[in-house]
Amino acid sequence: MNLLELTYDQLVAQFHQCYAKGGFHAAALYRAFYSQAECDPARLPAFAAAPELARRVRADLETARPAIVDQCSQDGVTKLLFRLADGLAVETVVVPMTRHTTVCISCQVGCRMGCRLCETGRMGLRRSLSAAEIVGQVHAVKIGLGLDVRNVVFMGMGEPLDNFEPVVQAIRVLEDQRGLDIAKRRITVSTCGRVDGIRRLAALNWPQLKLAVSLNAADDQTRSDLMPINRQYDLADLKQALRDYPLARGNVLLMEYVLIAGVNDSDDDARHLADYLEGLTARLNLIVYNPRLESPYAAPSPERLQRFHQALVARKVFVRLRRSKGAGIRAACGQLGAAFNLEQPASACR
Ligand code: SF4
Repeated sequence: MNLLELTYDQLVAQFHQCYAKGGFHAAALYRAFYSQAECDPARLPAFAAAPELARRVRADLETARPAIVDQCSQDGVTKLLFRLADGLAVETVVVPMTRHTTVCISCQVGCRMGCRLCETGRMGLRRSLSAAEIVGQVHAVKIGLGLDVRNVVFMGMGEPLDNFEPVVQAIRVLEDQRGLDIAKRRITVSTCGRVDGIRRLAALNWPQLKLAVSLNAADDQTRSDLMPINRQYDLADLKQALRDYPLARGNVLLMEYVLIAGVNDSDDDARHLADYLEGLTARLNLIVYNPRLESPYAAPSPERLQRFHQALVARKVFVRLRRSKGAGIRAACGQLGAAFNLEQPASACR
C-alpha cells in the first residue's frame, strides 16, 4: 500500500478491504501524510485507541519518495536531482512564479521518442516511472521543501503519453483535494504528438486538464526530421486528434514551437504555422531554442525572432513569446538529463 499512488477514496477502499475499517483512520493518515509527511500511524491521535491497527498499517505502508540528492539554482530556478529506489535518477525543475511555484516533473528516466532538439531524447528510455515516483517529486517540493506549489507541468524528462496509466493515476492523486489539491486546470500534460495517447486522454473527458503539444514545425518533412514521432502520426493526424480533444470553456491547447535558426524560422515556416493553427482552439508559445550539449542547432537572431512573431500576429494567431528560464544550469526546455551518469547520479549542476 503506497500512499503516493493512492487517492483518498482508494485508500479508504484499501482500509475496508484489508482491515475492515472505514474512512476515519484512512482520512487521518492521508491528511497527515499530505500535510506534514507524517506516515507513522502510531503517532496519530486517530490511532491512539487502535495500536494493533496502527502496527498492521505501518507494516503494510510504503511511503518512501524519491530522494533529492543534489540541487542547483540560477535566477530563482532550481533544478533538483532525484535518486530513485533502484539508483537511477531524474531531474525536476522548480520555477518561482509571481505568487506561487510551478514544478516541472519527469515521468520517465530518459525517453524513447528521440526528438533531435532534446537532451533527454539522446538518452534513450531506461524505464518509466511509477505513479508514486511521479507524485513523489511534487510531494518532495510541496511538503518536503514547503513551497506553495500550485501548478504542475509534465515537461521534464520523458513523454507522458508513453507512460499513460501511471501518469493518469498520478494526476488523480495530485488533484485529490484531501491531499496535494492541485486542480486539473493547473496540471499540464505535454506531448510530442503521440496521437494514440491524445485520443486515450480525450476519452477520459477531462476538459479542464491542460494539454501542450511540442509542434516545432508545421510541414511534415521538417517535423519528421526534428521529431521522429511525426513519421508515425503526421501533422494531419495530429490536427484531427487535437480538433477532437474536449476542452472546457476558457481552456486552450498549448502549442509549443521552439525556434531554431535556419530550420523552422523562415517566413514560409511562419505562414505554414499560421495555416496549421487555423481551426484549433490554441495558444502558441514561441520559445527560443536552448542549445543542448554538442547541438547542431542554434538560436535565431533577435531580429528573426521578431519577424517570425510579427508574421504570426499579423495572421491573428494567439501567440506569446516565452523565455525559457534556467538555461545556465541546463534546466530549460529540452535540456534535462544532460550528461549525468544514470547509475551514479552525482550533480544537478553541469
Ligand atoms: S522532447 Fe519530450 S518526447 Fe521528445 S525526446 Fe525530449 S522528452 Fe522525449
